[in-house]
Amino acid sequence: MRVIDRVDEFVAALEAERVAGRTVGLVPTMGALHEGHASLVERAAADCDTVCVSVFVNPLQFGPAEDLANYPRDPEGDRRRAGRAGASLVFAPSEREMLPSPPLARVRVQELSEVLEGVSRPGHFDGVATVVAKLFAMAGRCRVYFGEKDYQQLLVVRRLAADLSFPVEVVGCPTVRDLDGVALSSRNRYLSAEEREAAAVLFRALRAGAATVVAGERDPGEVTALMAAVIEAEPLVHLDYAEVVGAETLAVPEKLDGQLRLLVAARVGHTRLIDNLGIGVA
Ligand code: AMP
Repeated sequence: MRVIDRVDEFVAALEAERVAGRTVGLVPTMGALHEGHASLVERAAADCDTVCVSVFVNPLQFGPAEDLANYPRDPEGDRRRAGRAGASLVFAPSEREMLPSPPLARVRVQELSEVLEGVSRPGHFDGVATVVAKLFAMAGRCRVYFGEKDYQQLLVVRRLAADLSFPVEVVGCPTVRDLDGVALSSRNRYLSAEEREAAAVLFRALRAGAATVVAGERDPGEVTALMAAVIEAEPLVHLDYAEVVGAETLAVPEKLDGQLRLLVAARVGHTRLIDNLGIGVA
């Protein structure tokens, strides 16, 4: 496992791989790697000759009241897990190396950034898009792997890559869940045992929403109300939003049709969790 902390070395290392005829896969993360991240690395290793995991806790995507200082960090564990899953490079720059001064140039993916998480976390996706754009500019031609766990982020990043012509192919990967349906997340470690158990209500709400659509419900308001009711029945969980939207536009349709995405966000204790599920209506 080669660990790189300098931008110029990262740029040179990926270029050297391509010059040697090897394809490159990049898995951007904020570290504290778990089996969800490992699934992205495994997919990248199946598709590409060389896999690099980047680890950077991006300060630009945290709001002033959010948990940047307490965000979990585990550099040793990250190296081990990345290596076991098939990566041969870890790019782990310091904040100073990645953001030597606060960037005056910022990237915004309009519309997709302004709904759902964008309402609850103003500026969040601008922070994501700005740092991901820097990473793409450094990485050069490669495939990049993002999880559907952060579905809105996946759409934002896809659009960023397409609209700004970055030579990257964005690959979306399915959400890895625990046995009770809870999506794996670095933030789950903040949950008490009771909160962790209560968190399963997010996936139950998504499944209930999907089931009512499968049973013929076509009114998005009804689906939203059902998911909200399921979540509100769990006293330890406080709903932020529950929505059903077009899978590509993230807009609420008048009538449910085609490819849809159900998305929920809720607070469990001090921890904010998100989850989502895809469904198609013929
Ligand atoms: P993060 O470190 O939370 O920024 O996540 C890094 C990448 O891993 C993002 O593309 C996430 O969507 C993805 N990811 C996080 N959790 C999961 C999961 N449970 N299943 C699949 N991918 C995930």
